[in-house]
Amino acid sequence: MFAPGAERKEAQTQMIFAFSPFEQLQGYIITWLPIIFMGLIAVVLLRMMKVMPRVKPQQIKPQSKSAIGWNDIAGLQEPKRELREVVDFLHNPKKFKKLGAVVPKGILLHGPPGTGKTLLAKAVAHESGARFYSQTASSFVEMFAGLGAARIRRLFREAREHAPAIIFIDELDAVGVSRGGDGYSREQDQTLNQLLVEMDGFEPTHQLVVIAASNRLESLDKALLRPGRFDRQVFVTLPDTRGRESILEVHTKNKPLDPKVDLNRVARHTSGLSGADLANICNEAAIFAGRRSGTVLEMDDFDLALERVLTGLQSHKALSDNDKRVVAWHEAGHALVSELLESVDKVQKISIVPRGRALGYTLNLPEEDRHLKSRNELLDYLKVLLGGRVAEEIVFGIVTTGAADDLSKVTEISHSMVYEYGMGTEHFTLTVPADYVYVSDATRALRDEEQRSLADEAYNATKNLISDNRDLLDEFAERLMANEVMERDDIEEIMTSAKLPGVKQSEQVIIDREDDEAQSLDT
Ligand code: ATP
Repeated sequence: MFAPGAERKEAQTQMIFAFSPFEQLQGYIITWLPIIFMGLIAVVLLRMMKVMPRVKPQQIKPQSKSAIGWNDIAGLQEPKRELREVVDFLHNPKKFKKLGAVVPKGILLHGPPGTGKTLLAKAVAHESGARFYSQTASSFVEMFAGLGAARIRRLFREAREHAPAIIFIDELDAVGVSRGGDGYSREQDQTLNQLLVEMDGFEPTHQLVVIAASNRLESLDKALLRPGRFDRQVFVTLPDTRGRESILEVHTKNKPLDPKVDLNRVARHTSGLSGADLANICNEAAIFAGRRSGTVLEMDDFDLALERVLTGLQSHKALSDNDKRVVAWHEAGHALVSELLESVDKVQKISIVPRGRALGYTLNLPEEDRHLKSRNELLDYLKVLLGGRVAEEIVFGIVTTGAADDLSKVTEISHSMVYEYGMGTEHFTLTVPADYVYVSDATRALRDEEQRSLADEAYNATKNLISDNRDLLDEFAERLMANEVMERDDIEEIMTSAKLPGVKQSEQVIIDREDDEAQSLDT
């Protein structure tokens, strides 16, 4: 007979028999463990995302207090002229549209560090009244694939929503270096691809301009530089003497200056320094003035600031007597050779007080900007660098580790002379970069030989120069042992009282002879 209740009971009993408590637990574990595991991974990932630095683009509104105007940027006339056009476009796009002109979407500012590239981009934003979104390209580079690309998308979306706007990408080389295609840098390639896509994706009518800055134009991917992307490249150079003077003026505008402060002199002595270095010198000078409780910045403050920027902070390293003697003769060697050679910048200061990593230093400051150097001038510079090592050898009969930095500069310069400037002893018409693959081993060996013979030539000449002027070397070194520091006046005093048997004597003889002739003609 069929009894439904009884059948259900039987089934239930069967079920109880099929799943014992242990098996039930096993079932739960099998069902829930993967879910719990996935949940834990999600929690860990969320926590990691929270810990990761937030990299939102820095946004500057055009009228904010930190805004930079053209007047805050000294010199840089050429870049300013180029960028004024962009300002004009953002102000008055119709003017260009009527003429059918398409204003560049991307402008690449390139040049050495600290020359004012970021300042120029900020000035464009301020003068054009556009929003300014600034992000450094290194913040796009992440270990998670796709995150960099997402950040670029967000940056462009935000800027487009608030047009007219300027996107400024600093240190573009962090994502813009040539794509390798080797799979090792896939995240970086993906980020660069996204940047290329975004730059293609906006029209000139969007009133969006992308400005990027880089110190390494040569390593950027070619696709970035083609027309329609960063097609306008503006070279931001190191300032010349006039540029440096005007940068110093900008950075001393809000500082009380002693009337005797000669900014032109500071500018002449700072050849090769960037705007950032000059801003630093002005700030250091103000700190020195404050430290001596002065009310105005004096020339001495600028001299101390210059020395600090060029040679580093005075250290409290104590030198043993022996070390001090070696350092004194080493620096005297550099100074003497500089004074004996006409083409070398004159020595402004010699010191055996340790500063930064150096145990002593000789400060040669140029009087003017030089853009070209002859072979002889570079050889003379090698002689100055070797002066310290040669002095140690002649006086103490030993060589020390103190010349390591000088020797690495000698290697670098002699290498460039042979490989880049065609100034070797054999080949004057070919330059072959060291990493150029299509060069024979024989040529490579010849070039190495040429480089060595340049260094040897400089070394032998330095040895003669110092041996011939040994008295002067000792006079310099003994003065240093006594006072630790020598200024330009002390150096001139020694040099003018000296009877020079070296280079200058031959010149003196010629000058004297000319004078004699002149006198005899007069009489
Ligand atoms: P990097 O390539 O290292 O990023 P950069 O070229 O972008 O450097 P900036 O950040 O623009 O350099 O300049 C650094 C500082 O140097 C500025 O804040 C400013 O104080 C000073 N400076 C540089 N150039 C000039 C200039 N032409 N006029 C006035 N100040 C300048």
